[in-house]
Amino acid sequence: MTSQPPDGHAPRPVLLVDRVSRTFPGGVTALHEVSLTIETGELLAIVGPSGSGKTTLLNLMGTLDRPSSGLVEISGTDATALDDRQLSTLRGRMLGFVFQQFHLTDGLTAVENVSTGLLYAGVPRRDRRRLAEEALGRVGLAHRTGHLPAQLSGGERQRVAVARALVHDPALILADEPTGALDTANGESVMELLADLNQEGTTIAVITHDRDIAAALPRRVEIRDGRLTSDTRGGATSALR
Ligand code: ADP
Ligand code: MG
Repeated sequence: MTSQPPDGHAPRPVLLVDRVSRTFPGGVTALHEVSLTIETGELLAIVGPSGSGKTTLLNLMGTLDRPSSGLVEISGTDATALDDRQLSTLRGRMLGFVFQQFHLTDGLTAVENVSTGLLYAGVPRRDRRRLAEEALGRVGLAHRTGHLPAQLSGGERQRVAVARALVHDPALILADEPTGALDTANGESVMELLADLNQEGTTIAVITHDRDIAAALPRRVEIRDGRLTSDTRGGATSALR
């Protein structure tokens, strides 16, 4: 959570991306001077066609990759000034990730997969299991804590991944096509879960190429050919319910 600084200034945005570009070795420039600010409590979609730069942007927002130029700040901390070890600590405390293909560890139970989200958050071992069980309860999987990924449906696996992303109470959850590997019903259910978590106070950015999903969120940022083309607020949030 971002708190009011003692000097009375407005709290820092959760995420500040300022004129960020990314050119890959080989010469493809996937992002051109992208600027984006996310405030505490927002739920937004980053939408665009395949190849438009969405994953490149998410990786920069999540400090998994470094920009070729420009600034990325997480709750006021300049990520571009940190070394890899400091970045991994920042991610472990401030950010949560959800990916299209879940990225669960096959040999670990649901509760063990979720507690890995606490390894880099400085949480003592004795508290990890209880917090992981609580997180699984929040995503509706209190009855599946001992199941392995292979014993869960796709929708349940993605719920485990969401629990892992939120277990350390991050400032921002970044989800890259979280419904992309799910059927329509399970996809809608995962989006409802994300909307519920947002209602409870979690800040979430969802990357999607699905215009219906984007249209249902309170804010939509559109990206095309590596450039932000629109940023709109308001709309049919109720369509999610
Ligand atoms: P999206 O997620 O919107 O489908 P990406 O961010 O994955 O788009 O890709 C944007 C562009 O950058 C594409 O042209 C893609 O081929 C290129 N690209 C992405 N990652 C790399 C990389 N590691 N090396 C070279 N080019 C890349
Ligand atoms: Mg992508």
